[in-house]
Amino acid sequence: MRRNRRTKLIATLGPASEADEVVKALFEAGADVFRINMSHSSHEVLNNRVAQIRRIEGQVGRPIGILADLQGPKLRVGTFASPPVMLKKDQSFVLDSDPTPGDASRVYLPHPEILEALRPGHRVLIDDGKLMFVVTEAEPTRAVIRVEVAGPISNKKGVSLPDTLLPSSALTAKDRADLTAALDAGVDWIALSFVQRPEDVAEVRKIARGRALVMSKLEKPQAIERLEEIMELSDALMVARGDLGVEMPLEVVPGLQKRITRIGRKLGKPVVVATQMLESMITSPMPTRAEVSDVATAVFEGADAVMLSAESAAGQYPVEAVSTMSKIAASVERDPNYTVLLAGQRSPPESTGADAIAAAARSVAETLDLKAIVAWTASGATALRIARERPYPPILTLTTSAQTARRLALVWGVHAVVGEDPKDVDDMARLGARVAREQEFASPGQRVILVAGVPFGTPGATNMLRIAFVGASG
Ligand code: PEP
Repeated sequence: MRRNRRTKLIATLGPASEADEVVKALFEAGADVFRINMSHSSHEVLNNRVAQIRRIEGQVGRPIGILADLQGPKLRVGTFASPPVMLKKDQSFVLDSDPTPGDASRVYLPHPEILEALRPGHRVLIDDGKLMFVVTEAEPTRAVIRVEVAGPISNKKGVSLPDTLLPSSALTAKDRADLTAALDAGVDWIALSFVQRPEDVAEVRKIARGRALVMSKLEKPQAIERLEEIMELSDALMVARGDLGVEMPLEVVPGLQKRITRIGRKLGKPVVVATQMLESMITSPMPTRAEVSDVATAVFEGADAVMLSAESAAGQYPVEAVSTMSKIAASVERDPNYTVLLAGQRSPPESTGADAIAAAARSVAETLDLKAIVAWTASGATALRIARERPYPPILTLTTSAQTARRLALVWGVHAVVGEDPKDVDDMARLGARVAREQEFASPGQRVILVAGVPFGTPGATNMLRIAFVGASG
């Protein structure tokens, strides 16, 4: 089954996508990667989901990526004696270390390290930023905060601290347990929430030891301050616009989305644009014009993937949301401006054999109107460098590793097929041309360009290009 678009689509699974038939329908409608949100999944649910996706992968005969999204240090206030409590502008309120139920003057903050880190002048946002406070007095076990934006507050509402460098790592005890379970279950990608420092990413990499790739969710101002360093250590990035738009002014999020997408492209690291992309489709079979435009903008920017959250996890129209997103991406990619915009963002190749070959493959394939760039890849690195070129012809990647093929499900333009390594260069030409025909990239008489590393199966040895004719058989 060949997709008619290059931009990939991630669908979050949840109660609205419980049954095998629904998950299969989501794949058929266009989902390339499924996201399991560990904020809402026990290890039993995780294991069942992974088994379910692998079952469906077997039925559809295409590699499917699985992304386990760790919850991260989500901060919450404690409970109230009689919620909700109405807070008034300019009144003082206290966050403290007393676990007894709160009232209109105070509430428990069950994170002692946060109370220690707060300083006068820091902003405190509660309930996705609906309430805003400023710290006026800070002691090690209590902080007095003044209400700037008033409203009702109730039990366990989320707390965001845009000005406070959290002293804890991005991995909580729950995240560590979830990470181990996700690695054992064999997921392809791990998403790390609330990354603040490069060390947060390094910590996950050390635990993952290559068993899964690591995606940093960019949602904290502290991460934006150290963006380049975090990107260098990450295998992929997510513009997590939900929390990013709480922790930073909403109006800076679109600019950050552009900046992150461009740096990701330059580095050859996949970028995912996420959150509220088709939000209205949680309850409506049709998106708004503004949502269509938002998805289209991410695609025009050359994002590797766009993501659905509640739309596919908890909405009334999960399959419609996926097919709508897929249609928008496919339509943008047919727009003549798309190719022009992508070409405008292209960075020169780095001085490596793989980059020189990737750039040359694009140039030859576009000059000769070849039907596909067929590339052998062991680790996926060659495929990533070709995707970085954003070539006009599609990228057909051949690999012996099912794990590599699944990981590449997230990457712009890559259609991965699992198979044997060729025996020699002539076998490579035969095999590449055959797979291009079988996968409907080229018809007999058309040509493709082959990219490989000889000797075969040696990671990092990309060193050859060859033009091959597609035959009627063989
Ligand atoms: C986000 O905040 O945009 C996001 C993707 O994270 P989560 O859905 O885990 O809150």
